[in-house]
Amino acid sequence: MSTQNPVFIPGPTNIPDEIRKACDIPTLDHRSPAFARIFKPAIAGVRRVLGMDQGEVIVIPSTGTGGWEAAVTNTLSPGDTVLTARFGMFSHRWIDLCQRHGLNVQVIETEWGMGAPVAEIAAALSADTAHSIKAVLVTHNETATGVRSDIAGVRAGLDAAAHPAMLFVDGVSSIGSMPFDMAGWGVDIAVAGSQKGFMLPAGLAILGVSPKALNAMENATLPRTFFDFRDMLKSYATGGYPYTPPVGLIAGLAKAIELLEEEGLEHVYARHHRLAEATRRAVGAWGMTPCAATPELYSDTVTAVVVPQGCNGTDLVQLAASKYGVAFGVGLGEVAGKVFRIGHLGMLSDVMLLSGLATAEMCMADLDWNVQLGSGVAAAQEYLRNSADVALAQA
Ligand code: PLP
Repeated sequence: MSTQNPVFIPGPTNIPDEIRKACDIPTLDHRSPAFARIFKPAIAGVRRVLGMDQGEVIVIPSTGTGGWEAAVTNTLSPGDTVLTARFGMFSHRWIDLCQRHGLNVQVIETEWGMGAPVAEIAAALSADTAHSIKAVLVTHNETATGVRSDIAGVRAGLDAAAHPAMLFVDGVSSIGSMPFDMAGWGVDIAVAGSQKGFMLPAGLAILGVSPKALNAMENATLPRTFFDFRDMLKSYATGGYPYTPPVGLIAGLAKAIELLEEEGLEHVYARHHRLAEATRRAVGAWGMTPCAATPELYSDTVTAVVVPQGCNGTDLVQLAASKYGVAFGVGLGEVAGKVFRIGHLGMLSDVMLLSGLATAEMCMADLDWNVQLGSGVAAAQEYLRNSADVALAQA
């Protein structure tokens, strides 16, 4: 018999059986009305999860990285200036992608563990009286450090400066798990991936695009073919797709939306917050801290745990995989070895989370870290049993 443990990486997530089954459909003709019957509800559902009131949803066979590329190439031209901040591996990779596309990237270097520097972004926008900045790029949830950024604050900076730049937000590890308000925050492009809050396998880049970004698309000259929104929208208008779509994944996306809405998005967010808080209680009981510098920065989908001096987070991740068959996330880039990451997003219950925390503790004991077996689990249990109202709704 083979057994399957849950994963505690910050995406791909554990996949509900209903979604796995929804993906497993017989081949159908994607040029027939049968495809539109699957695609339309998926698109409509994404609009609700993103909090869109206008604009278009684009779904591309790709991943979050492809979503970044689609956002940039559809709206910008070589040499255009974009403003962004680097505070983790994923904000870094988006910067790298922009630079490789010949954009002029104005980077605000920010300590890892901090979020998007709202005041500095506002100051840079105010200083740009010529309006040479075409877009502001923000990573909503920096998965490398477990940091949530204040997108409303960035929007306020744009508005205060009366700056016309577009606002692009990477919500790959937040959308579907943490509140996201595309309309309220005035986001011009939101990027998500199928393998995080939507609980699907990797394979879809999912984007919300505002009318302003759609306008920019008409004059943008960066090369794009596979990612061209114009081809997508032309085909969508007739219920089709510009090339062969991954129908199974799209069927899974429709099911994912159904499950999220059955639970209720507010409940989904509350469940993630509660599991994240339980994780943080465990981290505190271990005598450790999250990498996120202050509580308002805490992510509800991933906690990067700063390990004690002399310990290596990667050792824990490797041991958990080899000895217990459980996956945690390694530290990336500047925080490699200094943290290990506990993903707590997607299909996850109290009981599943406790098993992960218990496994992490066993690894700490195995590695002779100065941690009392059961201490983190007890702190999480105490929190979970006393905040069980949401847990009951899960049942
Ligand atoms: N942005 C964030 C915040 C991520 O966490 C990831 C992946 O983990 C990406 C972008 C890149 O997405 P993908 O690996 O799906 O290309």
